[in-house]
Amino acid sequence: MSTDCKPIYLDYHSTTPVDKRVAEKIMQYMITDFGNPGSVTHSYSQDAQKAIDEAKKNIQNLLNAESSKVIFTSGATESLNLAIIGTVTRDCSKKHKIAVLPVEHKAVLDTCKTLEKKNLIETIFLDIDSKGRLDLDSLEKACQQDLSLICVMMANNEIGNIYPIKKVCEIANKYNVPVLCDATQGTGKVNIEFNNWGLTYMTISAHKMYGPKGSGALIIKKGAKLSPMLCGGGQQEGLRPGTLNVSGIVGLGECCKIAKEEMEEDNKRIKENRDFLLNKLIENFPHLIINGDIENKLCGNISVSFPSLQNQDIISSVRDKIAISTGSACSSGFENASHVLTAMKLPNDTIFSTLRICVGKYTTQSDVEKAAEALINAIKGLYLKKVS
Ligand code: PLP
Repeated sequence: MSTDCKPIYLDYHSTTPVDKRVAEKIMQYMITDFGNPGSVTHSYSQDAQKAIDEAKKNIQNLLNAESSKVIFTSGATESLNLAIIGTVTRDCSKKHKIAVLPVEHKAVLDTCKTLEKKNLIETIFLDIDSKGRLDLDSLEKACQQDLSLICVMMANNEIGNIYPIKKVCEIANKYNVPVLCDATQGTGKVNIEFNNWGLTYMTISAHKMYGPKGSGALIIKKGAKLSPMLCGGGQQEGLRPGTLNVSGIVGLGECCKIAKEEMEEDNKRIKENRDFLLNKLIENFPHLIINGDIENKLCGNISVSFPSLQNQDIISSVRDKIAISTGSACSSGFENASHVLTAMKLPNDTIFSTLRICVGKYTTQSDVEKAAEALINAIKGLYLKKVS
């Protein structure tokens, strides 16, 4: 992936390059098979509809979500909004209670905040520990409060924690509470059993799994009901009207198909490269802090803090050589403390010295060797400056 002129890309939580095979499929459905699946009078539309159906199958197949409804959207943000707002507006006769993990993406937290400001919901924050792990007892307690929805993500986009969704569903299902799982970071990386676990809603996004930006889906358990956020031409059973983004949907489907076939192999290589880089950092800086649950992490994730340094200084020193970040894409660039690390109650020194690095399927051994060297030199230089 790396070239001589571009920095080595190690920010796969933010977005991923499009797999060439996916790009070729997208091109086909932009240039040759460009029909509108809604215009039922000719073969252009029928071909487009066939492609949509195939994409749906590929998604259901990857998520083990046969017979679920797949609603195509512009990405995970829209899917999460639809699931949360659609739950609330389906029944406007009461103030809803929604339980969330405090380390959810802002697409969940800010949606809840907005609804709370309008006095439509009460948000209940589930407990986590300093590693960001969910306290299942707090979930059980929350379930006893007549919840309308529980939001627990599959995997976190900063610390990489993988959450025990099967257990979450076991508890929620005892109390008949629907579960929304934001699987944006987990899709194509961890095994997901939508049906067997008893999930109600799940969101996915193509650009986190080597597909195009602006294409995602909301997976809905058969029989679960939401109100739409948009009005329009009645597409997708009226739940998300608007002409379907056929090429984007085909791209998403292709990503799922490839992930189903190649995920295991990719994960092995990603983990080896991640471990190489992490071990090099530990060897050189034994005092570094590893954030999150190291036992249950996405295989490409590194979230590490270098006490008494500023993460922005480290990033500036290596900017020409490697592309890494401090936190989620939407918040990086701002000086605000990461809401994830804050919710874990980490000290400010840890929060502001945290780097988020993510290895992906196109990262090579040579990439991680060069990245390790660049980081080690930069961090050593910054510590030396501190003492001199
Ligand atoms: N949820 C998580 C965990 C994410 O990491 C992101 C993107 O960073 C989103 C939701 C939003 O996804 P999208 O860019 O598809 O709207």
